[in-house]
Amino acid sequence: TAEAPKRLAVEELTVRFGGISALSEVSFAVEPGTVHALIGPNGAGKSTCINVLGGAYRATEGRVTYGDDELTALPSHRTAELGVARTFQNISLALEDTVEDNLLVGRHRLMRSGVLASALRTPGARREERAHRATVRDIADLLGLGPLLDVPVHSLSYGNRKRVEMGRALAARPSLLLLDEPVAGMTHGESQEMAETIRQVRRDLGLSILLVEHDMPFVMGLAEQVTVLDFGKKIAEGTPAEVQRDPEVLRAYLGA
Ligand code: ADP
Ligand code: MG
Repeated sequence: TAEAPKRLAVEELTVRFGGISALSEVSFAVEPGTVHALIGPNGAGKSTCINVLGGAYRATEGRVTYGDDELTALPSHRTAELGVARTFQNISLALEDTVEDNLLVGRHRLMRSGVLASALRTPGARREERAHRATVRDIADLLGLGPLLDVPVHSLSYGNRKRVEMGRALAARPSLLLLDEPVAGMTHGESQEMAETIRQVRRDLGLSILLVEHDMPFVMGLAEQVTVLDFGKKIAEGTPAEVQRDPEVLRAYLGA
């Protein structure tokens, strides 16, 4: 079972690639158990932020803490051990493998008995494997993927592939879930279904969610707090209603 969510604090985060500042002194916090949206036009620095939080990119300056732990000092496998899991903007699943096998990948970081024990099929390893499969089944049921566990991912709809991507992150039982553009490329109908799935995940699993989205209307019914980025800088922050009528935000989105 997951630990209780902690506060995520992003403090004065700067990430530079050569001459480009992908993020410039960005600060915001995700309160435990809330859905916080990070939005902004293409190239605003949203994925870069997720990549730093997940340990894939190094911060140039500033720091990120999760509870008492500093994420900016850790590689991605250590970040995962602290209960932080992410999805990718571009789906990164094993297409030939079944839904179940893809979800089991999310359990690997928790496998205690190790490769040798699994190879020898010790009673402990078998017990652990049964527990992993049970967890994966629970996650699949929560996401509406229960009937599809034995189906290879390549034969799923785009919307269901996005759910598997989310399920793989959830299989690790994170207390903080980082979602990078969960509805990119979806139809309006599929987006509405995904919004309902995210609400359900939050309700049933009690975790925090940092929702990175390009699609502003999508986050409005989902997030308690919104941080808006443009060209790597924070330009607004507040409730969905507040940021929606912020002139700077309208300018960034509409080019007005
Ligand atoms: P968003 O996710 O908001 O669309 P990104 O974080 O992907 O934006 O990109 C922000 C800026 O950082 C862009 O100018 C992008 O080209 C640049 N960038 C992102 N990742 C890298 C990288 N690994 N190397 C060089 N530039 C990068
Ligand atoms: Mg992105």
